[in-house]
Amino acid sequence: MLDAIEHEVKFTQQMTGRSALDPRVMLAIARTPRDKFVPESFIDSAFNNAPLPIGHGQTISQPYIVALMTDLLELKKDNTVLEIGTGSGYQAAILALLCRKVYTIEYVTELADMAKAHFEELGYRNIESMAGNGYDGWPEYAPFDGIIVTAAATHIPEALIEQLKPGGRMVIPVGQQNRYQELTLLEKDEDGQLKITSILDVAFVPFQAEGR
Ligand code: SAH
Repeated sequence: MLDAIEHEVKFTQQMTGRSALDPRVMLAIARTPRDKFVPESFIDSAFNNAPLPIGHGQTISQPYIVALMTDLLELKKDNTVLEIGTGSGYQAAILALLCRKVYTIEYVTELADMAKAHFEELGYRNIESMAGNGYDGWPEYAPFDGIIVTAAATHIPEALIEQLKPGGRMVIPVGQQNRYQELTLLEKDEDGQLKITSILDVAFVPFQAEGR
């Protein structure tokens, strides 16, 4: 799986501007058991570089996309991160190896419960998860050094921009739902100025209940 990710990183380098990912990100991926986050019926495909169904019409993202989005956050050890769209919990588990604390919100209660059980079973102590609508972020623990949205949004939610620290980075797929989106990097500088860059075309499941 790591070879497949490296290959795809090279293949897409003209678009992403990256010919290799941070070795710490690759190590976190190597150390995260993806087979523990996929349904039993897909265990044989767990280490393929492909998205897989996780029930409730949702998916665990393609490992290359997980790697790229993690890399774009440029996390430091003492950082806190907010993830919208816990899904299987796989992305959160990788983030948990790279920073101090991960907060993650999932809209589908059953998936949130399942992910929480996986975090406990596998001994992740620095992930706090909840079921709910991530559109409003998680004000109680804001601001965050990094924010990652793993569902397709039609726009960047204002609350998430507010909950990003100066110097922080947000990675979010933005565009028409049920089609392709642009994986978007939003950087907030120390003065609060925003810089928005499109990285790559991606296809994510829709962000539910935007603005509600
Ligand atoms: N990060 C996940 C990918 C899951 S797919 C993983 O590693 O497996 C995206 C997830 O976003 C789905 O589970 C979907 O239910 C969730 N989602 C969609 N809209 C949401 C919202 N408004 N708030 C929180 N989660 C949402």
